[in-house]
Amino acid sequence: MIANYHTHTFRCHHALGTDEDYVTSAIANGIQILGFSDHGCMIGPDYLKPDMRMRPELLPDYMYSLRMLREKYADQIEMHIGFEIEYYPKVFDDLIPFYRRHGLEYLILGQHWIGKENTPGEGYRCFRPTDSEENLRIYADTVIKGMETGLFTYLCHPDVIWYTGPDEIFEKYMRKIARRAKELGVPVELNLHGIRSHRNYADPRFFRIAGEEGCQVIIGYDAHDPHEFYEHENVEKGLQIARESGIKLLDTVELVRL
Ligand SMILES: [Zn+2]
Ligand SMILES: [Zn+2]
Repeated sequence: MIANYHTHTFRCHHALGTDEDYVTSAIANGIQILGFSDHGCMIGPDYLKPDMRMRPELLPDYMYSLRMLREKYADQIEMHIGFEIEYYPKVFDDLIPFYRRHGLEYLILGQHWIGKENTPGEGYRCFRPTDSEENLRIYADTVIKGMETGLFTYLCHPDVIWYTGPDEIFEKYMRKIARRAKELGVPVELNLHGIRSHRNYADPRFFRIAGEEGCQVIIGYDAHDPHEFYEHENVEKGLQIARESGIKLLDTVELVRL
């Protein structure tokens, strides 16, 4: 892998290591383009799950630290600074100017929640098992609307939702996502964090559909620890899923600039 656009930092409260550790580890493993995309800060009490994302006051430090590293390692690696965020329509339009003011370069869409993430009983965390078709429908609608904003460079782990109901229902909504991604030219990610954490994703059922629909697919480390760039066996597992789905992976993606 020569590019990875999905990298976290300690500021999200559930990732390890220093910013520099991620950069040197990526360089040591042959990565030529490294995008940082920590869990982006949000606005408003409904979207501030404390163990999940960066607080807004840490954004200047994030930008400063990564810009310094970009300069320091400029002759060894190309670096970009972005965020991974959910698409929450209520706050999205206010977030974008805020991110732009700080010089954020790009966004990737990772829909870990639908509804309110910080109000017990009012949201659904997508990587908890659910057999609710309604949850699946809302999830699919939300990520499609997110992609339709035209502001996301790619869709992270489209198969993050852990739907335990019938395969044909899963397929119905996942095909909608895959088809729309293809129409919009938004690449979808085959996510290594799901593989390393033995989660429900990367789901071969989704990638078979993505292959049939002709989606552009890119692998993302979704690194939460600098050592994860050394996990070549997980890359191999991801490549295997892609091969079995008839997918030709992208090496790089074009950033949608904020
Ligand atoms: Zn995370
Ligand atoms: Zn992530």
